[in-house]
Amino acid sequence: MRLDGSDESKNIEDRRGNRTGMGGGMFGRRGGGGGGGGGGKKFGLGTIVLILVAMYFGVDPNMLLQMTGSDTPSQYEETTYSTSSTQGLSDAESKFVAKVLKTTEDAWGRIFQQQGWGAYPEPKLVLYSGSTRSACGLGQAAMGPFYCPADEKVYLDLSFFREMGQRLGAHGDFAQGYVIAHEIGHHVQNRLGILEQVDQIRNRGNQRQANAMSVLSELQADCLAGIWANELRRQGDIIEPGDIDEAINAAAAVGDDRLQKQQQGYVVPDSFTHGTSQQRMTWFKRGLESGNIAQCDTFASAR
Ligand SMILES: [Zn+2]
Repeated sequence: MRLDGSDESKNIEDRRGNRTGMGGGMFGRRGGGGGGGGGGKKFGLGTIVLILVAMYFGVDPNMLLQMTGSDTPSQYEETTYSTSSTQGLSDAESKFVAKVLKTTEDAWGRIFQQQGWGAYPEPKLVLYSGSTRSACGLGQAAMGPFYCPADEKVYLDLSFFREMGQRLGAHGDFAQGYVIAHEIGHHVQNRLGILEQVDQIRNRGNQRQANAMSVLSELQADCLAGIWANELRRQGDIIEPGDIDEAINAAAAVGDDRLQKQQQGYVVPDSFTHGTSQQRMTWFKRGLESGNIAQCDTFASAR
């Protein structure tokens, strides 16, 4: 991505350095084994694997709450944070995220206007390290990035981008851009009332049906990330040769079938929550090639 002269978003909330829930007994620890001890980022491998499978780009607040113990969202509301959004960001990684976030704001700002949806309500993106509180429960690095509909914020621990390259083979700046754009896709879904409907249907069905709904919702977020990529491509100057391939490769890298195969050696399709590698690539490309949000109706295509 060519972002040298690009503006940074003002919607970054930088909580790095603020550690939460690492010492006190108030917050549930991540489930399973406790192999990591109290030393910050050293998680037991088994725990990471389990959580990664469950939470890749997750959005379901109930799941988050289950994973972090019995804390209720109301417990989190009392705390206020000092945000550094007005102080400016100093490191390259956060500047990159802020610039990518700005490209999503520009793209969705235009689309909302074109569609007659009014002004695009820009979400905040919280940068954190280790763990942080959200209105959806305790966010932890091992969960991967997630969007919390209750506070309309994207949560991102930058160590995820290193993991993505090293562990999953998803390299390149546009792979990271795709991840951010996918989470922003959840925000768009939230604003359009889609997440709420998905949740209602999920709550009525059994686990298998709930998972199937989750897949459709996640694939739609991939398609919306493709819409963002389409906007950038039409604008011209940000996308470089190889960028699109990086995003498609990343979409494949986080397919449920590939992750399960890597992590447990076999695949359980009924447990998929995000879709296969093939599905994720297909839906990203569909958004990218059409540039038309009407093409992102994963729910209709499943009926
Ligand atoms: Zn997602």
